[in-house]
Amino acid sequence: MKNEYDVIVVGGGHAGSEAAAAAANLGSKVLLLTMNMQTIAQMSCNPAMGGVAKGQIVRELDALGGYSGIVADKSRVQFRMLNKSKGPAMWSPRTQNDRMLFAQEWRWMLENTPNVDFWQDMGKEILVEGNKVVGVKTGLGREIRSKTVILTNGTFLNGIIHIGLKQLGGGRMGEKASTGLTEQLQSLGFESSRMKTGTPPRLDGRSLDYSKMEEQSGDENPDQFSFLPLNLPQKQLSCHIAYTSEAVHDKLREGFAESPMFNGAIEGIGPRYCPSIEDKINRFAERDRHQLFVEPEGWNTYEIYLNGFSTSLPENIQYDALRLIPGFENAKLFRPGYAIEYDFFQPTQLFSTLETKNIENLFFAGQINGTTGYEEAAAQGLMAGINAHQKINEKEAFILKRSEAYIGVLIDDLVNKGTNEPYRMFTSRAEYRITLRQDSTDARLTPLSHELGLASDERMRAVEIKQENINKILHILGKQSIDPKNVNPALTELNSSTLSQKVKAHSLVTRPELGISFLRAHSEAVDKKLAPFAAEEIEAAEILLKYDGYLQKERDLVEKMEKLEEVKLGKKLNYKAIRALSSEAQEKLTAIQPATLGQASRISGVSPADISILMIQLNEN
Ligand code: FAD
Repeated sequence: MKNEYDVIVVGGGHAGSEAAAAAANLGSKVLLLTMNMQTIAQMSCNPAMGGVAKGQIVRELDALGGYSGIVADKSRVQFRMLNKSKGPAMWSPRTQNDRMLFAQEWRWMLENTPNVDFWQDMGKEILVEGNKVVGVKTGLGREIRSKTVILTNGTFLNGIIHIGLKQLGGGRMGEKASTGLTEQLQSLGFESSRMKTGTPPRLDGRSLDYSKMEEQSGDENPDQFSFLPLNLPQKQLSCHIAYTSEAVHDKLREGFAESPMFNGAIEGIGPRYCPSIEDKINRFAERDRHQLFVEPEGWNTYEIYLNGFSTSLPENIQYDALRLIPGFENAKLFRPGYAIEYDFFQPTQLFSTLETKNIENLFFAGQINGTTGYEEAAAQGLMAGINAHQKINEKEAFILKRSEAYIGVLIDDLVNKGTNEPYRMFTSRAEYRITLRQDSTDARLTPLSHELGLASDERMRAVEIKQENINKILHILGKQSIDPKNVNPALTELNSSTLSQKVKAHSLVTRPELGISFLRAHSEAVDKKLAPFAAEEIEAAEILLKYDGYLQKERDLVEKMEKLEEVKLGKKLNYKAIRALSSEAQEKLTAIQPATLGQASRISGVSPADISILMIQLNEN
């Protein structure tokens, strides 16, 4: 091990692994300091990546040179494009993964990344000189110096595991908690609070009767997250759907008196959108059943993850209630569900680079910032890794706009609004949803990562070729005429108005009930001209044609917002002295110190009236 690194990443979870990879790939000397080398990028909860809004993030990570997409692809047991029946802004890739293979692939990729060293130990303290971080002191007493430190402690900071009335110290079942860091950071002026999350029981798949459940198989032609060619096997495993019943709910209610959720033992706030089964029964008392997803944990195990049945009720109640679910009459448990409480730090204490405002060159990423989910953590890790490298090399900060990526939305929300409950990404958090589609991620972000030095020339060229081909398809459809006699019978059949004269092919694609496949089926010329193009290029061209109006609207909005982004605030204003501002705005603006008027406008508690006052003030200065 060297005595001095450019970057020390504390914690080898999803955030830490992406942070280490990004900084190292940019050329920084990185130490990944983690408590357990066996659990690098361990999936603490669901063995799955992506899903609504999260799948878009995984694709963004891939386009930016992150590893999560490749690892998820290589370790998948199932791929599904969710929401295919809705508009393309909602299409979201999701994989079910082999939990052990996922961690193994991550570790292998990191070990094969030049510039990454590993050390298994606990980061006990950060070393600070003046107001700058200069390294880390470990549990074994080593002092390792570095120019920057990225803390990615996940659910481990003073973690407490709850199962019924039992409480155990731990950052995850079977792993010890991280102690000391929170207290030191508090003494340095950081504010921390508690959150909680939970996980369902794991079962022996051989003990379940799948004939009583609905099968959910993967997509027939599975796509992948990564934009790189991976040549993946097509074989997939099925998931199954089961349901709870009134009898299950009654049995679970018997344990409520011993529930840490209800008896006050858990004080931290949990994820509202991912509630425990006891919470669902309590909050939605009128519902007589809840859906459960029976998900395989991998190729080489019978272990089953019971998605939707997260619980911290006593083990015997979990067991008895499970056996009342149709198909689970003979269920055997491998591990009980549990809840965990941990410390997090309000992310308004960070700049948009994820560097802390209190201590220079110290970055926070992942669940430590109050988020939940592997994808959200990985995204922050990648951005912190890039920005740590940029900072020490005196290069420009790398900040994604809300109009460029869900990752931009995520970080902008965190640093400006903060969060009082575990923050997860939803498509509804993004104002430019149609722009931020999963299919266009490479076109939006690869040029940025190429400029940074993360995406190879080869990857960049592949994106350029794809874009050129999409343009060629649009050109063909804009030129090719369609004869009414070739399409009118089919149009009548589809209840679509018939043509009275020739039209250009693209005008038919914009009809909701038609698409390029209709044109190919009824125009030999179109079919022949489009034959050389890949399915994804044709699909992308179709989306551009169908959503052109919406995309233009979003572009106009972006342009308007960018005008506010151009107005720099920096440390120009003493907000407390601007009496016309609301006191909440004075307080939030002083705490957050937005870099631009645009950023100020997104801080919760800062109203449009406050923005007008700031504009007047800037004009007067
Ligand atoms: P983690 O994945 O927690 O990784 C932290 C890493 O840091 C670990 O490797 C740990 O060993 C290491 N570490 C910690 N402290 C130190 C230290 N001082 N020194 C050295 N190494 C250290 N997400 C959802 O989206 N939905 C869910 O339903 C859900 N349920 C969850 C249930 C449980 C019980 C748990 C534990 C997590 C759950 N999550 C859920 C959260 C998801 O696992 C996290 O969001 C994600 O793993 C966070 O990634 P991370 O990299 O920030 O931290």
